[in-house]
Amino acid sequence: MRKKIVAGNWKMNLTLAQGEQLINDVLAAGLHLQEGQEVVFATPFPYLVKAKALIKNNPGFFLASQNSASEKSGAYTGEVSAEMLQSVGVDYVILGHSERREYFQESNAVLAKKIDLALANGLKPLFCCGEPLEVRKAETQNEYVAKQLEESLYHLTAEQLKNVVIAYEPIWAIGTGLTASAAQAQDMHAFIRAQIAAKYGREAALNISILYGGSAKPSNAVELFSCPDVDGGLIGGASLVAADFVAIIKALA
Ligand code: 13P
Repeated sequence: MRKKIVAGNWKMNLTLAQGEQLINDVLAAGLHLQEGQEVVFATPFPYLVKAKALIKNNPGFFLASQNSASEKSGAYTGEVSAEMLQSVGVDYVILGHSERREYFQESNAVLAKKIDLALANGLKPLFCCGEPLEVRKAETQNEYVAKQLEESLYHLTAEQLKNVVIAYEPIWAIGTGLTASAAQAQDMHAFIRAQIAAKYGREAALNISILYGGSAKPSNAVELFSCPDVDGGLIGGASLVAADFVAIIKALA
């Protein structure tokens, strides 16, 4: 059966000392993760090595980077390659976050290249999709998300897709305090799963984890995670506070 995942995307927040404290506090919370449940810390690049050492020996805890390069290696000042990330023990890589798409002009085509390199280097892409407010208002969110999936994922084989996690993050809900209702999340997640089924078959669709992201917090996590097609969450702001992140992880049960 598919994995249930809560991933904390720290974005560009916290010092190393604050990040260490946060990870230690979450580890000390005595969470008993069930079979198939995972917790992921997506830390800034400079903290990955330290974070890996902290989570070592804690089954069910994994590490993600928040980006990786679209080129393999070479003269790309400031970039971090998938191979480098693998070499320091990173498990997942967030790709296609709306902030990367908006502020760094990452297109569906560039993301397809990043996904290929991530998979070729043993990293699992945590692929983000989701519509802006105008699209939601026009009620064309399904077409919008379908195109994101098609242009960045559908060149993959069914075997490759097994290592991909999808995160639906409606842009209007990110950092705004405005969460998608459980019904809105469930509708989109079911739509995404149906799209995957149409392209890759029923088994692939049943096995792929689809996370929800966008103002998820302890007060709404239980309701969101109880939706049949919501397999956990990609958490921004609330992942920076240990007690909130722990409460959200507990909502997986
Ligand atoms: P917030 O939880 O802060 O809305 O951020 C969601 C997000 O972008 C996670 O990647």
